[in-house]
Amino acid sequence: MATSTPSASKRRFSSVNNNTKPLAQALISQALQTRINSIDPDECEAGVEDAFFVADLGEVYRQHMRWKINLPRVEPFYAVKCNGDEKVLKLLAALGTGFDCASKAEIQQVLNIGVSPSRIIFANPCKTASYIRYAAEHDVRKMTFDNAEELYKIKKFFPHARLFLRILTDDSKSLCRLSLKFGAPLDSTRHLLELAKELRLNVIGVSFHVGSGSYDPTAFETAVQDARQVFDEAAEIGFDLRTLDVGGGYGNDNFEQIAGVLGPAIDEYFPSSVRVIAEPGRYYVSSAFTIATHVIARRTVPADSITRDASYMLYLNDGVYGNFSGIMFDHQKPIPKVLKRNGEYFFESMPSDSQLIKYSVWGPTCDGIDCISASCFLPEVLDVGDWLYFSDMGAYSKCSATKFNGFSDDHQVVYVVSDPGALALLE
Ligand code: PLP
Repeated sequence: MATSTPSASKRRFSSVNNNTKPLAQALISQALQTRINSIDPDECEAGVEDAFFVADLGEVYRQHMRWKINLPRVEPFYAVKCNGDEKVLKLLAALGTGFDCASKAEIQQVLNIGVSPSRIIFANPCKTASYIRYAAEHDVRKMTFDNAEELYKIKKFFPHARLFLRILTDDSKSLCRLSLKFGAPLDSTRHLLELAKELRLNVIGVSFHVGSGSYDPTAFETAVQDARQVFDEAAEIGFDLRTLDVGGGYGNDNFEQIAGVLGPAIDEYFPSSVRVIAEPGRYYVSSAFTIATHVIARRTVPADSITRDASYMLYLNDGVYGNFSGIMFDHQKPIPKVLKRNGEYFFESMPSDSQLIKYSVWGPTCDGIDCISASCFLPEVLDVGDWLYFSDMGAYSKCSATKFNGFSDDHQVVYVVSDPGALALLE
């Protein structure tokens, strides 16, 4: 396989991306304005001015093309947990990806849109027994395990499952560490494989996950080497492993760097007869979703002898218990930008007539932890009724929103499609 060098692949992708960016921005900006113009906050029914998303399905499409250019040997199984938006799933299904599901509900959602069970991996190493039965009833055979107890459970409820042994990785350079909870240490894999053999279970591959939001490409290389060791161990025990699952963790900003290390490592350690799949989540959706939020309240913090200038606390109609849950669960640091101030719209630009001043930005609940940004600089002077927006809000946002304090956990999504390739698939 001819794997691109990181710089070459970056160059190739950049030229694709730059062509569509202005169109994407124009469509997103237009969708934001159209929706906001339809709302009269002084007269509308309660909740009509709730925060809403604009999703650009063209961006999801471009991410898929970028994947195929940079990791042509690796079949993506999109991690539904990251964002189960129905239209995203349908687009990915049309693009031919597989799906990584963590629960019965996710499996059901993917099957309901017509995806074949063979394109699903139940990638949760510690599964509820009734969910295993559900997987068996619906012929979702691929699933992961990393401990002996899980093998006994699978033996009881789905002895014909096709199993992936998930191995422990060094996840120390990732945003969300998973190895505290999952992954078989390398000194336990032989025992697990022997037990699987004894139970006459069908182990078909090895999986790993270097941690969600990984910022160390070499973690992928080490994990591939470790997987090779387990493939060899399995062969000694009498298994003929045929699939490697290289997990998730790919970011938007470092994808080419990861691919530049991972692609060659796969080729070095695994012959082309081995199928390679992955479970990317955030990579596909993060940059595709923008959220617009309404300023519902403002508090002036008077200047004192230390701060010298007054600052403001802005209260928005979405927060940490809602679509900004990623601040808690995903270490996100969303950046507020002005969308509408005093009746005028701004998108990817700033009001030129004003200086920046200090704000803190808060969610709508009565909890003090509900803080989106403790300190940021925005143009003067934002007030009740203005709108802010946040880009890169597609991953681990609405999927973990709650109804805490009675606020909605179900926000409208306005869809735009900035790429003709995606448009053709959606029609
Ligand atoms: N696969 C598994 C098993 C996961 O637990 C996760 C995230 O937690 C993912 C894939 C997706 O990770 P990411 O969104 O970082 O690609």
